[in-house]
Amino acid sequence: MSHIVIIGCGVIGATIAYELSLIPGLKITVLDKQLPAQGSTAAALGVLMGIISHKIKGKAWQMRSHSIERYKTLIPELEATCGRTIPHNQQGILKLCQKGEDLAKWENLAKIRSQQGWKLEVWDRAKLQANCPQIDCQNIPAAVYSPQDIQVDPVVLTLALVEAAKNRGVNFHFDITALQYELTNTVKSVQTDSLQLKVDWLVVAAGLGSLQAMPVSDRILNAPKLDLRPVLGQALQVSLPNLGNPDFQPVITGNDVHIVPCLTKIPVTDYWIGATVEFPLESGIVALKAEKLEEVRHNAIAFCPALATSNIIKTWSGLRPRPENRPAPIIEPLEGFSNVLLATGHYRNGVLLAPATAQRIIKLLDGFLVS
Ligand SMILES: Cc1cc2nc3c(=O)[nH]c(=O)nc-3n(C[C@H](O)[C@H](O)[C@H](O)COP(=O)(O)OP(=O)(O)OC[C@H]3O[C@@H](n4cnc5c(N)ncnc54)[C@H](O)[C@@H]3O)c2cc1C
Repeated sequence: MSHIVIIGCGVIGATIAYELSLIPGLKITVLDKQLPAQGSTAAALGVLMGIISHKIKGKAWQMRSHSIERYKTLIPELEATCGRTIPHNQQGILKLCQKGEDLAKWENLAKIRSQQGWKLEVWDRAKLQANCPQIDCQNIPAAVYSPQDIQVDPVVLTLALVEAAKNRGVNFHFDITALQYELTNTVKSVQTDSLQLKVDWLVVAAGLGSLQAMPVSDRILNAPKLDLRPVLGQALQVSLPNLGNPDFQPVITGNDVHIVPCLTKIPVTDYWIGATVEFPLESGIVALKAEKLEEVRHNAIAFCPALATSNIIKTWSGLRPRPENRPAPIIEPLEGFSNVLLATGHYRNGVLLAPATAQRIIKLLDGFLVS
C-alpha cells in the first residue's frame, strides 16, 4: 500500500489528509510538532472571500470557486461523521463600499458572477440601511452582498477534519520532534525521535515551519527561491447583544476590517473583529503593537458605532505564512526531489483555499494514485 506522509496539521494538512482518505488504497500519516490547529489556523477568522474576490479567471479563480463549491458538501459531510455542528455562517459576506469607490467595477463583477452561475448584488445606501441598521451609512454610498460566500470556525473545522480522517484510517502523530529524512533524490523514509516511517510521497504543509520541515539538502538548494515571511494578524472578540437585525447576521467587512458574528450562541451576542496586517521588520522580527489592534477596533466603530459600547472578551494574534517575491500559495513539487510536494504559503486565504489545495495535491499525485 502506498504511503503518503503529510508534515503539518493546520487547516491545510488536515484538509489534504481528509480528502486523500476518501481515495481507496492509500496509507496516510500526518505528523505535527504541536497538537492540530495550533499555528496560523488557530488565529484565523475563517472568512472565505471567494465569490466576492476580484479574481475572475485562471488558477486563482478556479481555486476559489472550487473551494466554495466543496465547502457546501464538506461541512455537512464532517458534521454527519463527527456528530457535531461546525459553526459556519451561511448568510454571506457584505462588503461596505467607501466614498469614491468605483461602483461600476462591482456592477461589472456582479454581471460576470451571474454569467458564471454565482450571485453577487450591489446594494444602494437605502437597501444597506434597511438590512443592516447598525451600520452608519453616512460615508458609505453602497455595499456589495455576496450571499454564497461563507465563514467557518477554522479550529472546529480542522479538528473535525482530523477526526473524520482518523475514522477513515489516517494515522496522526502530534508533538513529534526532530524530523530527519533518509534521502537521495527521493525521500525514502522519515524519522522522528520516536518513529521511523517508509515514505512513497511526502507532502510538506507546515505553514511558516515549511522551510525547516523540508528535506535538508533541498532546503539549502531552494532557500533563495522559497522564502516565507510571517505577517502578524491581531484580532479581538467583543460581546454586544442585539446588534443589528437578529435574522440577518452576515460577515460585514469595511476598510479591510471584518466583523464576524460568533455562531456558537444564537441569537448572536459576540463578534470577532480583525485583523491587523503587520509586516516583519527588515530583521525578520515581528513586533506586536497593541495600538494596531486598537486601530482596527476604531475602524470597525467608524462604520458600526454601537461597537464602542461593547465589552472586549479576548484578544489574540497569529502569524500568516506569506511567500516573499511570489504569489500565494505554493502548491508544487519540490525541486530536486521526485516525491516531495509543497502545500504552503497560503498567507491570508488558507482556510478559503484548503479544499482547492487538497484538490491540487491530488492532481499532482494523480498518475501515482492510479498506477
Ligand atoms: C489573524 C488572522 C486572520 C486570518 N483570517 C483568515 C480568514 O479569514 N480566512 C482565511 O482563509 N485565512 C485567514 N487567515 C490565514 C490562515 O490562517 C492561514 O493561511 C492558514 O491557517 C494556513 O494554514 P496552514 O495549515 O498552512 O498553516 P498552520 O495553521 O500554521 O499549520 C502549520 C502546522 O505545521 C506544523 N509545523 C510547523 N513546522 C513543523 C515541523 N518542522 N514539523 C512538524 N510540524 C510542523 C505547525 O505546528 C502547524 O500545526 C488568517 C490568519 C491570521 C493570522
